[in-house]
Amino acid sequence: MEPTHDNNFTSWGNISRVQRDLASVDQFPTSQSSFLPFGNGRSYGDTCLNDSGVLLPMQNDAHIHQFDAKTGLLFADAGVLLRDVLKFTRPFGYFLEVTPGTSFVTLGGAIANDVHGKNHHARGTFGRSVLSFDLLRSDRSALMHCSPEENSEIFAATIGGMGLTGVITRVCLRLMEVSSFDVNQKTLRFNNLDEYFENVEVIDDAHEYSVAWIDQLARGTSFGRGVLMAGNHASVEEGHAMAGERQADESKDAKLSVPFTSPINLINRWSLAAFNFAYYHSFSKGLSESMEPWQSYFYPLDAIKGWNRLYGPKGLYQHQSVYPKAAARETTIELLECAKRFNHGSFLTVLKSFGAQTTPALFSFPREGFTLTLDFANQGVKTLQLLDALDEIVLKAGGAVNPYKDHRMSAETFAQSFPNWRELEAHRDQKICSDFWRRTALTLK
Ligand SMILES: Cc1cc2nc3c(=O)[nH]c(=O)nc-3n(C[C@H](O)[C@H](O)[C@H](O)COP(=O)(O)OP(=O)(O)OC[C@H]3O[C@@H](n4cnc5c(N)ncnc54)[C@H](O)[C@@H]3O)c2cc1C
Repeated sequence: MEPTHDNNFTSWGNISRVQRDLASVDQFPTSQSSFLPFGNGRSYGDTCLNDSGVLLPMQNDAHIHQFDAKTGLLFADAGVLLRDVLKFTRPFGYFLEVTPGTSFVTLGGAIANDVHGKNHHARGTFGRSVLSFDLLRSDRSALMHCSPEENSEIFAATIGGMGLTGVITRVCLRLMEVSSFDVNQKTLRFNNLDEYFENVEVIDDAHEYSVAWIDQLARGTSFGRGVLMAGNHASVEEGHAMAGERQADESKDAKLSVPFTSPINLINRWSLAAFNFAYYHSFSKGLSESMEPWQSYFYPLDAIKGWNRLYGPKGLYQHQSVYPKAAARETTIELLECAKRFNHGSFLTVLKSFGAQTTPALFSFPREGFTLTLDFANQGVKTLQLLDALDEIVLKAGGAVNPYKDHRMSAETFAQSFPNWRELEAHRDQKICSDFWRRTALTLK
């Protein structure tokens, strides 16, 4: 096998930028190397990297094959981006049942990480809308058709299986019919975390979507202040009114872009404090209502292409954790206090509840409770020490740390977060591995 080399294949955190070896999917079953499917690199850390082997880029020649506007069933190659799915299905009024906060994610990547969206409390994870897929394994001569009825064990292990169980080639996905893509949004500007926790359950119950932004730099009586943004799909009439207003913008994709990596980190304490203050005060006190275009509601950061480059050449770490409801208020406070003690500002701090829906996945990050996401510019040892301290708080609360946002968690943190990891290892295709799996699971064997 003659792999090609490319230094554009990296993960979103940009922690390590090196030239990576690539091969095509048809070279996978026949060669001796270690492989890993690569979607669009929107995972933050090293679950989508394989520096001891080769990556299999999945976007080449990826197509949508069929969409049934009566049933909402889509048949597409795994390398198709969610963004392209939505472009295709929007005229028929079908939206994804679950979408992460960026549309630049492939179907295969969304399945492999069993991603979640702002409606986890209502609909659970992406895997719930996957009806079936075809899987290529190195130990099989033919594609395996996997569904809850056929090859059901490998179906469950592949959803959330971080690419380790084989290469997903084609997918059958169920979409949901909506009155409008746009969203009728209710916002609650809250002064502190008590106010958030007093209101979140009632607001979640009444809305399909719900997520809170926290001003992580606020201190004193404003500690934990933020904005809870909930929403339901707009009615047909509201949607038409919005469409009229924004017609001129429709043909444009990302309007802003960061064309190269900034030589310094531009996301610093001062820029953050100014942004947070302005953002918080851009919302009215208490409850308010507005109509939001779907692009900015679901994918606000997609409007700035390459925004991760603002963090400079050292990149960023994201820390996402989930912890049980019973201790959620105290754990959230402890995590925010910890970042404050380390004097580390988080650009995007997001808090959300996860509901009780089960997932078809064997191995999946979301579980009932609350999830807090923090983004930190990489400042070397100080950042790594902070991240370890955050892990400790999460584990003490009985929670878990998200692997596909991670580039540094210890094998022990991983094992405590996912006590059933050996079951995924048992289904792993022995010719597939990732840097993450090598530095965590395989050191525990
Ligand atoms: C701005 C932003 C917002 C985000 N918001 C959310 C969010 O709200 N919720 C959430 O859950 N995540 C979120 N994420 C993370 C992102 O949704 C996931 O990491 C997603 O899985 C990335 O998909 P990808 O196509 O880029 O795949 P990659 O990151 O390239 O790969 C992800 C995993 O999928 C595997 N894989 C890819 N293709 C295949 C295939 N064909 N067959 C088998 N395995 C495959 C890879 O091996 C890897 O393990 C966000 C990321 C960003 C940058």
